[in-house]
Amino acid sequence: MLDKYFDYNSSTPVDKRIIEFLLLFIQKNIGNSSSFHLYGQNLLKQLTNIKKYISNKINCESDCIIFTSGATESNNIILQGIINFYTKYSYKNHIICPIQEHESVLNIIKYYEKKGEIEVTWLNNRTACYNDFDFIPFIKKNTLLIICMHVNNEIGAINDIYSIGKLCNSKKIFFHVDAAQSYGKISIDIKKCFITSLSASGGKIYSLKGVGIMYLMKKPIRVRLLYNSFGGSQQGLRSGTIPIELCYSFFLASKFCYKEMKKETKRLRFLQLYIHIKLSKMLKENINLNGPIDSRRIYNNLNYSFYGVEGEAMVLMMKHIVSTGSACSSSSLTPSIIIESVSGLEAAQSSIRISFGRFTKKIDCIALCNDIYKTFKILKKRSPFY
Ligand code: PMP
Repeated sequence: MLDKYFDYNSSTPVDKRIIEFLLLFIQKNIGNSSSFHLYGQNLLKQLTNIKKYISNKINCESDCIIFTSGATESNNIILQGIINFYTKYSYKNHIICPIQEHESVLNIIKYYEKKGEIEVTWLNNRTACYNDFDFIPFIKKNTLLIICMHVNNEIGAINDIYSIGKLCNSKKIFFHVDAAQSYGKISIDIKKCFITSLSASGGKIYSLKGVGIMYLMKKPIRVRLLYNSFGGSQQGLRSGTIPIELCYSFFLASKFCYKEMKKETKRLRFLQLYIHIKLSKMLKENINLNGPIDSRRIYNNLNYSFYGVEGEAMVLMMKHIVSTGSACSSSSLTPSIIIESVSGLEAAQSSIRISFGRFTKKIDCIALCNDIYKTFKILKKRSPFY
């Protein structure tokens, strides 16, 4: 099953080592980390250590980390929270946001823009690789927030969050980074990049699903939020009994990712180049790579458009598991807005995303390329444009 799976950007398979450690953890630990009794306090201690480990890896204070159910919830708490809080103090704050952000960001910003509560500048840089120069011309006196994901979920483009963060810091603008596709894969330094808020997801780092983190800066700038979720105020903004088992799963996943990052970066970069060269040779002018191929692209993603063939038809016919558009929206047949913005509408309709990871071997990549080649040839023959 794993040998045919090429949809790691949508969800990573759970690492068996995590299940084994988690089983031991569950057997040894019971209770609620908010309870005063011994068991509760023991769990609280473990949670504190988990947060220390994570904060150490991304260079921030551990009390700035909050566990959530995933990057979608993190983006919601942060972005809705910021917009609602600062709207109380100034009418129509300005936000700058690239159109290639994930839907869990786009839909929040669109909602508040439609309500007339914020003014938005939508950026559309056709490479989907952003740096400070893309944002500079659009900064206004009332710019409150700049949003820029670290790595794009469809084409793997890596944004220069260091230069953007430096710009935000110099202009006293909040900087939100959706790191769902980069956390655990490439290093993130919150302080160096002047990130004021960040989200990440366990479902992309071989953890159990249903867990993620959000980071919110407290010092030197305190990001204030208004987010109404009433409850027992565990973790402050995010009420509800802390799912310690999921937090532990996220922690273990982070540990494996960080421990193996260097080796995996090299190994997967090789596989990425291998697939790209093989497919380019096999299909020549029939395919187009969407997004960059150099170091500006994360090492575990490729995205191609196939001329004269629909992406959905490829996905349905192939033996290997790949995706079209973003997995979260691939049930709707609207073409990917990201691919459309970088390569045009026709390319978007014929695109597939190939993403791989820890369990992908070279032999699996060879079989994938053959499967793509065969499928394309069959579909092309059936195409009216043939
Ligand atoms: N942001 C990005 C960039 C993503 O790729 C995803 C997952 N597709 C999310 C946010 C949502 O993450 P989650 O499933 O953890 O809510």
